Amino acid sequence: MSLAKRRFDALVIGAGGGGLRAALQLAQADATVAVVSKVFPIRSHTVAAQGGINAALANVSPDNWHWHMYDTIKGSDYLGDQDAIEYMCRAAAHLVVELEHAGVPFSRLDNGRIYQRPFGGQSQNFGGAQAARTCAAADRTGHAILHTLYQQNIRARTHFFDEYFAIDLIKDEQGTILGALALDIESGEPLLIEAKTTLIATGGAGQLFRTNTNAHINTGDGLAMALRAGIPLQDMEFFQFHPTGIAGKGMLLSEGARGEGGYLINGEGERFMERYAPHAKDLASRDVVSRAIYLEVKEGRGCGPNKDHVLLKVDHLGEEVVAKRLPSIRLLAQTFAGKDMAHEPVPVYPTAHYTMGGIPTNRHGQVVVPVGQGEEAIPGLYAAGECACVSVHGANRLGGNSLLDIVVFGRAAGNHIINYLKENRFHRALDEASVEAAMAHLKRFDNPDGNETVEGLRTELQQVMEDFCGVYREESVLAEGLEKVRALNARMANLSLKDQSRIFNTARIEAFELENLMALALATVSSALHRHESRGAHSRIDYPERDDEHWLKHSLYFAEGQRMDYKPVRMKPLSVDSFPPKPRVY
Ligand SMILES: Cc1cc2nc3c(=O)[nH]c(=O)nc-3n(C[C@H](O)[C@H](O)[C@H](O)COP(=O)(O)OP(=O)(O)OC[C@H]3O[C@@H](n4cnc5c(N)ncnc54)[C@H](O)[C@@H]3O)c2cc1C
Repeated sequence: MSLAKRRFDALVIGAGGGGLRAALQLAQADATVAVVSKVFPIRSHTVAAQGGINAALANVSPDNWHWHMYDTIKGSDYLGDQDAIEYMCRAAAHLVVELEHAGVPFSRLDNGRIYQRPFGGQSQNFGGAQAARTCAAADRTGHAILHTLYQQNIRARTHFFDEYFAIDLIKDEQGTILGALALDIESGEPLLIEAKTTLIATGGAGQLFRTNTNAHINTGDGLAMALRAGIPLQDMEFFQFHPTGIAGKGMLLSEGARGEGGYLINGEGERFMERYAPHAKDLASRDVVSRAIYLEVKEGRGCGPNKDHVLLKVDHLGEEVVAKRLPSIRLLAQTFAGKDMAHEPVPVYPTAHYTMGGIPTNRHGQVVVPVGQGEEAIPGLYAAGECACVSVHGANRLGGNSLLDIVVFGRAAGNHIINYLKENRFHRALDEASVEAAMAHLKRFDNPDGNETVEGLRTELQQVMEDFCGVYREESVLAEGLEKVRALNARMANLSLKDQSRIFNTARIEAFELENLMALALATVSSALHRHESRGAHSRIDYPERDDEHWLKHSLYFAEGQRMDYKPVRMKPLSVDSFPPKPRVY
C-alpha cells in the first residue's frame, strides 16, 4: 500500500458544528486548514439538532448570563467545571449574534428580534420563574447553523477531505501529536495528514445503545482514537437519556415540544410530572423527566396494550403553532409513529441521546492529561464539541447547551491554535514508528477463518448496553454487563468481512466503528460500575443519593488495564463567586 502525504498547519477531524466553527476561525486567520469528515460535512449530526441554542438575550423573558451559569451548574448536578461554564455562558450572546450575522435564519418575534423558547432547567433569578433562553430556527436550528458554517468555510477556503475516515493519531516519542492517518472511503487508499495541530471534533457515541436519537455515524471514533493514544476519557458514566424518543424507535421529539406548552401524560391520563417536579413540571431537567417516565411505566401506569410508554401531548396548542414552531418533529412523528401531533398525542419513551463524558480538555480546547498531582496539555492536540469533556455539562446537560458548547469551544480552540502556530512555525519530523503502527491497524479484521459479522456483534453490544447500563443501574447488573462487553470484545478477533454479501469499502469502515464502540462500551460500563452514588444521568439503585463527600470528582478511564482514576471538579469560576452544591430540586 503506498502512502500519500499532505501537510497543513491545522487538521480538524470532524465537520460538525464544533469542527467547522474551529476551522472557520483558523481559515479566517490565514492558517492552512484541513477538515476530514467521514460523511459529507452537512450530513454531520449537528444537522439534526432541533430545539435551539441557549443564550441569555432576554428577548422573551428577563435574563442574564449569570442566571444561565447557575442553571447550567445545577443542571450538571454540580459536576461541571465552573470556570468553563462561566466562560461559555458569558460568550453565548455574542456568539449567537455572530451566527445570525453569518447567515443563520433564526425564527423572529413580532418586533424582529430572535425568537426564544423556554427549555428544561431554565430559570430567572437563580431558580425562580421559568426563563425562555433557547434561540431557535423553527425546530431545525442545527440544520441552519451547520449549513451556515459550511458555507462560511467554503468562502474562507478551508480544505475539505470529504468521506475520509480518520483511523489513528500520529505522535512522536515526546508525545507531541503530528497529525492523523485517514482512509479515503471511496478508493480504500490511506492518506497521512501531517499537521502542527490536530483538533478532534468527531461528535458523540449514541450508537452505543440500541434505542437512540443519534445518526448511524455517531460511533465515538475520536474518543476511541484518544484512548488508543493513551489518553484517558473523562466522566463516561454520564450518558444522557432524552425523555421523549418515539417509543420503541428512539427518534427524537425535541424538548421544544414541551417548551411550546406540550406535556406528558400516563395511562391514567394524569400529568404525572407535577408529582416529580412540582415547580418546573414537564420542563424539569432531562435526567429527572427520564427517570419519572421509567418509574411510571415500571409501576404499571404506562400507556398502550403493553403499558410500555407514556404520551406526549401538543394537540391542545392548535395546528397553527405546531405547523409554525414544530414542523420537523411533526413530520418525524407522522413517519415513524403514524401520529399527527397537531391532532393526537404521540407515544414516547427515554432514548439514548448525548455523551456527557469525553476527551478531557481545558476551556482553550487543549487536551489535558494527569501528570503527577496536576495536569498538562498534550502539545498539538485539541478537542471540541460532543467528543470533548471540558466539562460544561457535568453529570447532565441542559437542552440547548450543546449547540452553544460546540460554537463556544470550537472558536476558543481555534483561537488557541492560532497562538500555538505563531510559536510553533515548523512541522516536526514525522515519527515513522507511529506511522507504521497506524498502517498496521489498517490490516485488522481480516481473519479468513472468522465467523463473526459486524452487524451481529454490534446488535448484541447495543442490546447489552441498553439492558445493563440504562437509565437505572446497580452493582450486580453493571458487573454482569462488563463481563458481557468484555466477551463481545474478545469475539472481535473472529470478525470476518469475507462472508458479507455486500463487500465494499464501507464494510471495513463499519468494522473500525465497531472496534471503537467496543472500547467506549468498556469505558462507559467500567466508569458506571465504579461510581458509587447517584448524580445527574447516573442513577444507582444501590446508591440512590448524591455523595459530595466522596464523589464530587471527575472520573478518568484509561484503556490500558481498564483502570480508573479521579480528578477534582474546578469549583472556582473566572470572576464571580462559586455556586456550592445544594440539593437539586425542580
Ligand atoms: C436528534 C438530535 C437533536 C439535537 N438537538 C439539539 C438542540 O436542539 N440543541 C442542542 O444544543 N443540542 C442538540 N443536540 C446535540 C447537538 O446537536 C450535538 O451535541 C452537536 O451538534 C455535536 O456537534 P459536534 O460538532 O461535536 O459533532 P457532530 O455534528 O456529530 O459531527 C461529528 C463529525 O465528525 C466526523 N467524524 C466522526 N468520526 C470520524 C472519523 N473516524 N473520521 C472522520 N470524520 C469523523 C463526522 O463525519 C462529522 O462530520 C441534538 C442531538 C441530536 C442527536
